[in-house]
Amino acid sequence: MVTRVTLEIALRKEFDYSVPPELSAQVEVGSRVKVPFGPRQVMGCVTAMVEASTHTNLRPILSVVGKQSLVTPKVLQLARWIAGYYCCPVEIALKSVLPDSIRKEKEGWRERLFVRAVTTPGEMPKLSKRQKEVWNLIEEWREMPLQELIKLTGTTAETVRRLEDKGLVVISEEVSERDPYANERILPTQPLQLNAEQAAALEKIKAAIGSSVFLLHGVTGSGKTEVYLQAIAQALEQGKGAIVLVPEISLTPQTVERFKARFNSGPLQTLVAVLHSHLSAGERHDEWHKIRQGRARIVIGARSAIFAPVEPLGLIIVDEEHEHSYKQEEAPRYNARDVAVVRGQMEGAAVVLGSATPSLESFYNVERGKYALLSMPTRADDKKMPIVRIVDMRLEMRKQRGVPIFSTQLKEAIARRLEHKQQTILFLNRRGYSTSLQCPKCGYVAQCPNCSVSLTYHRTVQRLLCHICGHNVAAPSVCPDAKCRNPGIRYSGIGTQKVEENLAKLFPHAAIRRMDTDVLKRKEDYRRILGDFRLGKIDILVGTQMIAKGLHFPNVTLVGIIYADLSLHIPDFRAGERTFQLITQVAGRAGRGDIEGEVFVQSFTPHHPAIQFARRHDFNGFYEQEIDARRELRYPPLSRIALLTIKGRNEEKVRFTAEHLRKEIDNLLGGGKEHMIMGPAPAPLARAETFYRYQIMIRTRQMSKVSAQLAQLSEKLSLPEGLALTIDIDPATLA
Ligand code: ADP
Ligand code: ZN
Repeated sequence: MVTRVTLEIALRKEFDYSVPPELSAQVEVGSRVKVPFGPRQVMGCVTAMVEASTHTNLRPILSVVGKQSLVTPKVLQLARWIAGYYCCPVEIALKSVLPDSIRKEKEGWRERLFVRAVTTPGEMPKLSKRQKEVWNLIEEWREMPLQELIKLTGTTAETVRRLEDKGLVVISEEVSERDPYANERILPTQPLQLNAEQAAALEKIKAAIGSSVFLLHGVTGSGKTEVYLQAIAQALEQGKGAIVLVPEISLTPQTVERFKARFNSGPLQTLVAVLHSHLSAGERHDEWHKIRQGRARIVIGARSAIFAPVEPLGLIIVDEEHEHSYKQEEAPRYNARDVAVVRGQMEGAAVVLGSATPSLESFYNVERGKYALLSMPTRADDKKMPIVRIVDMRLEMRKQRGVPIFSTQLKEAIARRLEHKQQTILFLNRRGYSTSLQCPKCGYVAQCPNCSVSLTYHRTVQRLLCHICGHNVAAPSVCPDAKCRNPGIRYSGIGTQKVEENLAKLFPHAAIRRMDTDVLKRKEDYRRILGDFRLGKIDILVGTQMIAKGLHFPNVTLVGIIYADLSLHIPDFRAGERTFQLITQVAGRAGRGDIEGEVFVQSFTPHHPAIQFARRHDFNGFYEQEIDARRELRYPPLSRIALLTIKGRNEEKVRFTAEHLRKEIDNLLGGGKEHMIMGPAPAPLARAETFYRYQIMIRTRQMSKVSAQLAQLSEKLSLPEGLALTIDIDPATLA
């Protein structure tokens, strides 16, 4: 037998190795192995076993990591698809498939010392009082970790060693599993009685375990999670497992708990493994192996959990399928939602994409008959959708003589909530205090020296900060321009800090908290603030993106969107879609309890379709008008995009190379109507972290073919020194 191995270092090539007899029982497709490569030893993954090699003098594999193959043949097949479609070498795809902690050369189990009682038939040796106490305890428990025994009895390791000398106990190293949720007490839940909409959705999913992709379009609060839970139960009953993807940001303890609580007892009991970036490497290692060993049949996690080695796999759920965080912004640049659909097809698993605001891509696939639509248009237990009021800020500006943060209507609404002890959420998708520092006299604007963006003023630290590269300088008190030195420099634009500060002036007795990445330095902060909010210790929560989705607080009856136009002005064809989604999701936080919710959307372009359709909770209306616009311009989902970005410190060189690349692409793809090729042009973010960026955009209906051609091109392309090319297939943003 000969093994074919992809190495972590050498790109786009596989190498053949022989298998020494002592390793032959351990080596299979998917094994991680150490092999000689030139004078070095490197890690790799077995991607195939073949009868014979065309090469002679094969060198042998040196060692194998772990007892089981780490990449299952099915996941390996998925990695190959990713490499092909997303235009990257198989080794890069494999890096995402296996978490770092699993890819170590040595297995990462944590070993601890365990004490175990031994039953001796002989006479009991004489023990001191101390030793007797310890012995009594361990005799009863039979075994426990040494550290725990020491803690419980208040003794030392020395005493326990004495017992070992007398033959009463043995102390040995054993694997002990880490459990990131060990300290949480989770109460079991029972399946809820489904309403008619939920029951209809579940019936169809049940019938399809084994195939099919569904789009579950359910308004916020329609009870999608309950449908997920019961569909998972169905998969388990058939002896299959499930993967649940949620955006990293909504992977809160509450979300995880809802899944653990349903399956931690009863006939379908199984472990629920959790995979996300806040776990320690050790925790991730152990969670992953629980899945690989089949002890955890359900996995819940962010993007990369789509590669979890669940076997057999019956169901994949992608919650909030429209979320951009499913797209990985470094190679391999995959979108986990799309990978989920491919994996479902490869393994005969049903795929459920859930959202209150589906992506245009997914809804278009429903229209074309590729996905089946499941609709849940009302909230569970018939709670009403909140009333959405649009506030025309142009009128407010005239009324209040200047740009106000709060309209009169919103101020009054907040005051009423405070009076009635109800809670408010205020949303603004921009952190910091002011967006820019400008001198009214000479026109100076504080710019980042590394990036083509202006600096944001953060008042608490009195500094100007770049939100792209993190560059920061002390905030000046006079215009920094040497010829000007005007002390009347001004800060304009608003961020969450300023909202919080002005709010405190307006409502001095209200408990106000802010939630954005500036405040949340540790992961406990997030839990703590949400916990306080749940307990009613906070009246008004101000925040970014972070508070936009997934949160369920029955006492929130008012939601204010401070500046809804913010996402409309980004240079991206998805700006309208993003705005519609954001307003709908944020509005969905209101009126989850018994009192009807009210939402104020402040805008300077109140008649924009994205805002108007969101006001009426009208997804279909929004879709109809948006898809027409996309069709007109041949943007996705009517085409697919490949975005090529060339980066470098010398702008001339970057532009010249990009132009050369454009010619190569023209030669490769040919002219004609099949593809639309645009650029090169400076990227919307023209300079980031001192690198100039130029882009070429290809729009096509045949992406698999184009990405194969681009892979060839990038392989033979030799870029001038200091330049880098990235190829992004189906980019989530055009930045
Ligand atoms: P979504 O994920 O669609 O936004 P959730 O799953 O969070 O909605 O459900 C919203 C609320 O409705 C939750 O408190 C949930 O327990 C409740 N709920 C869901 N289904 C039912 C049902 N069939 N009967 C009663 N309450 C339900
Ligand atoms: Zn910068």
